[in-house]
Amino acid sequence: MTMRPFVSTISLEEARRRLSDAIVPIERTEGVRLAEAAGRVASGDVSATIDAPPFARSAMDGYAVIATDSASASRDAPVRLRVVERIYTGQPPAKSITSGECAEIATGAPIPAGANAVVMVEDTAKLGDNEVAVFRQVVAGHNVSGRGTDIAAGSSVIRRDDLLTPSRIGALAAIGRATVDVYARPVVAILSTGNEVIEPGQPLGPGQIFDVNRFTLAAIVAAHGSVAAPHAASEDHLAALTAALDECLAADVIVFSGGSSVGERDLILDAIAARGEMIFHGIAVKPGKPTAFARVSGKPFFGMPGNPTSCLSNAYVLLVPFLRATARLPPFAPHTVRAQLARRVSGAPGRHQFYTVRVTGGMVWPAFKGSGDITSLSQADGYIEIPADQDAVEEGDVVEVTLF
Ligand code: AMP
Ligand code: MG
Repeated sequence: MTMRPFVSTISLEEARRRLSDAIVPIERTEGVRLAEAAGRVASGDVSATIDAPPFARSAMDGYAVIATDSASASRDAPVRLRVVERIYTGQPPAKSITSGECAEIATGAPIPAGANAVVMVEDTAKLGDNEVAVFRQVVAGHNVSGRGTDIAAGSSVIRRDDLLTPSRIGALAAIGRATVDVYARPVVAILSTGNEVIEPGQPLGPGQIFDVNRFTLAAIVAAHGSVAAPHAASEDHLAALTAALDECLAADVIVFSGGSSVGERDLILDAIAARGEMIFHGIAVKPGKPTAFARVSGKPFFGMPGNPTSCLSNAYVLLVPFLRATARLPPFAPHTVRAQLARRVSGAPGRHQFYTVRVTGGMVWPAFKGSGDITSLSQADGYIEIPADQDAVEEGDVVEVTLF
């Protein structure tokens, strides 16, 4: 076996630049029902074809009146009005209101013809079945939501590339839309490599380990607006890897893990060389240095390290921004907290370090065990970053923790 030396690493910033240059926002679209639209991205503008509300309606329980009839009303000198009907929601008024008359009306019920304001029930007193005392003057339009005041027919409701938040879905519902056109979620092929890697649930043979990366990657892909397309693990030989690559080409993005140790690395390089071009291989980060990015038959390809924490760490740092941009989602904005570091943490000379920590008792505690240990992440609350040129973060230093 001829082993090529590890290609010199590029900086994290340079890796981010090359990744961002390689992003092709998804063009496929699909129609989804409103109930499935949350978190999707609109692929076209939507304008209202109706007014919302579709009719002038009462904003209060009370009495629909002609505003000028209430002009002299006060606690001491109430105005008496004749109640001509009761208007409930979902029912058109039967009568129109003339001076000296009113209609009892529920919130959301249509304002009867002739009336132009609503006196709320708290400002009235019933005087028998068909008469009411009004204690307060209202002006025209008071407690009335005019037709189209929320959304006027013809106006814009959502625009292309808008994230469909709960309220935007609500606005679509308000104008009667049952479906909305959205961009398709990018399909992400996920495949683990390694002769030793087997499926959880199978009996574990000598030297074998359960596949972790396929599941961490699928979870993170799904959490950021893409669809995970898992594939069976591939053995470490060129024919198997090339066949595995070919199987994944139907996806929008391909993510392999493993194959970063000496010897295996050559196989992945050869498999990529057979199908595409390498954009980088090796990033000056810790963990996650042996990460590759390539274009394989026109598709973006991530070669993540096999070590589960390295793999997942770089999925957070590099894959998530790439997928979100591909899916046309806004950048992820993680929560951060600032607190004092309880123990000194050494930097990694020449590498930008993502160091996992726990936040307890108002202090930040080291949680990193090793890049092969998934508990470096699963028992951490977040991570701190130590730039490549920094030797250490000292005990007592205030650090910013990016929370998972
Ligand atoms: P590699 O990058 O293939 O050299 O793998 C580095 C380490 O990660 C080795 O100990 C592998 O057994 C382990 N590893 C590789 N792939 C996986 C996986 N999918 N799940 C869990 N561990 C893995
Ligand atoms: Mg391997």
